[in-house]
Amino acid sequence: MTARILFVFSVLLLLTAVSGSAQTSLASSSVPQEIPVFDVTAIDKTIDPCVDFYQYACGSWMKNNPIPPDKARWGRFDELFERNLYILRDILTEAQAPGKHSPTATMVGDFYGSCMDESAIEKKGTAPLIAELERIRSIETKAALIRQVAAMHRDSIPALFAFYSQPDMHDSTETIANLDQGGMTMPDRDYYLKDDAKSVETRQKYVEHVQKMFELAGDKTDVAAAEAKTVLTVETGLAQAAMDRTVRRDPKTRDHKMTVAEIAGLAPNFDFTVYFADNGSPTFTSLNVGNPDFFKQVNEQVKTEPLEDWKVYLRWKTIHEYAPLLTNAFVEEDFNFNGKYMSGRKEMEPRWKRCVKATDENLGMALGKLYVDRTFGAEGKERTLKMVQAIENAMRQDIGQLTWMSDTTKKKAYEKLNAIVNNIGYPDTWRDYSSVVIKSADYAGNTVRASAFEVQREYKKIDRPTDRKDWGMTPPTVNANYRAAMNDINFPAGILQPPFYGKMMDDAVNFGAIGVVIGHELTHGFDDQGRKFDAEGNFRDWWTADDAKEFEQRAGCTANEYSGFVSVKDDKGEVKLNGKLTLGENTADNGGLKLAYMALMSVIGDTPVKPIDGYTPAQRYFLAYGQIWCQNVTDQEARKRVLTDSHSPGRWRVNGAVQNAAGFQKAFGCKAGQPMVAENACRVW
Ligand SMILES: [Zn+2]
Repeated sequence: MTARILFVFSVLLLLTAVSGSAQTSLASSSVPQEIPVFDVTAIDKTIDPCVDFYQYACGSWMKNNPIPPDKARWGRFDELFERNLYILRDILTEAQAPGKHSPTATMVGDFYGSCMDESAIEKKGTAPLIAELERIRSIETKAALIRQVAAMHRDSIPALFAFYSQPDMHDSTETIANLDQGGMTMPDRDYYLKDDAKSVETRQKYVEHVQKMFELAGDKTDVAAAEAKTVLTVETGLAQAAMDRTVRRDPKTRDHKMTVAEIAGLAPNFDFTVYFADNGSPTFTSLNVGNPDFFKQVNEQVKTEPLEDWKVYLRWKTIHEYAPLLTNAFVEEDFNFNGKYMSGRKEMEPRWKRCVKATDENLGMALGKLYVDRTFGAEGKERTLKMVQAIENAMRQDIGQLTWMSDTTKKKAYEKLNAIVNNIGYPDTWRDYSSVVIKSADYAGNTVRASAFEVQREYKKIDRPTDRKDWGMTPPTVNANYRAAMNDINFPAGILQPPFYGKMMDDAVNFGAIGVVIGHELTHGFDDQGRKFDAEGNFRDWWTADDAKEFEQRAGCTANEYSGFVSVKDDKGEVKLNGKLTLGENTADNGGLKLAYMALMSVIGDTPVKPIDGYTPAQRYFLAYGQIWCQNVTDQEARKRVLTDSHSPGRWRVNGAVQNAAGFQKAFGCKAGQPMVAENACRVW
């Protein structure tokens, strides 16, 4: 369970791994050194940059930085996130020390302390879970099921479907209620539906895992075995009704405004009027339904599946969500399936890391304030803003130069670009958590209360003016995003440091790293999804039909190109990227790389800049870009990401983008026919 609700229309720079679960001694070491922005020692000079640029930029780094046993992926992003964890631990340890602390520090210190208090957690055993499970056991009618789902949603326990608030797609100034598909536990519907050997094996492992968890919760072996099969049956039904991730990229597929009466009539077995009255949301009369067919189909399943099976399913969802908050036995079994089998982690992370992450997930805007006070200076904000402006200017210039777009559409594109809001570092106002009760020795209780607070905070937005100042990401987050409904780009303090941004670094390197990230987020406003929203963040077509056709043709080129790239090749076979799922991100990578390069060239102008470390500014620019994506990843994790992650792996974020970039080929003197010179370079922006 986590208090963090993902803003649905946001496009992140990268999908961060969900932490496994861990338990080891409290390692005491100090904050690791800053990560170099430009790392000559990462380069593998035995490789020709025109043959495999990623290998050239990162080869030595990859060799010298194997994946730590508690990770599924290890890249320079992760190095930075890891370093942030140490800084946050220092903050939390100080907040726990005796003495006078601010209410904010006291709160996060107490939360962290309750997570670290393993003996109290062991002593409580299954007690925090049992009350919940008993409530489900006592359900006697199908009508009462929906009340239980509402109660679970109030505590942020996902089950059956999703309910949340979100700006109205056609009037982003108003936030409205949303219903959507949901209820599966494995990361994608494909895990339930595909018939290849690996998918069949995964389902078998999943059933074994669910059985073990039921046993830990107190059920007998044979009962637990039957329950696990029931869970798979119920969730497979939900998967069959769910829409494919790639199809959902088109906003049209998720755009279904209805009245409460209409959705209640469409799926009467859900009893939505009871659900809405019970789930803690304000009263409303209309809402958006992301996937009406899901509710139509599952409506049948609600009727045909016996009551006892639904109760088993709801008990499982509760056990699964509580697992990380419970004793070591639960934590370990949760890790065995989700960390080890699904992601290829060898070991659990030390407990302190999980507790720092849990504090960030549950009270992140409080912890974030302390983090910003300690790490983020005005200088960082100012220089970042200047770069954003330079890159926005480059985009203006780029749009002006497009030969395939008419002036009519260009005018609208400028309007949208001019309206983009830049959020840098941290929010203007800090979230008020004072109503959340944090008790010592009550980790599960603290998490449930923080989660319930966050659910309430999100529900309260329903049928009210959209709060554009509300941040989705916490300040220590190493990520960035574009939000279509807000038409804004967001860069938390966590990412505005090495290897993305270095105070002492030359412009070439900073533009190649954080500059491309900025260009990437800007481009999201104009990718296959973003282009369908206007300057106000409304889902509205502002393209002429001819220009839209030209766009689709160029986007199709990118989708095909990336579909040819291999992500994993192991004894279980070869898996290629899904070019349609990753289209927006690949468009943003290609656009970002071009825009930041244009901006850098305008900053450098005609002044000759001496090579540094033996590299010209243009070469340093592309190397800095290549090096932010240096990473190693387990085969298991790579397989999972092909299905679930809209981002390409590091190798293709780099090689895919540079082989389309004329500036790169000029910088390194690459010739036609070499692998880093695409035969038919794809370019949208
Ligand atoms: Zn992105």
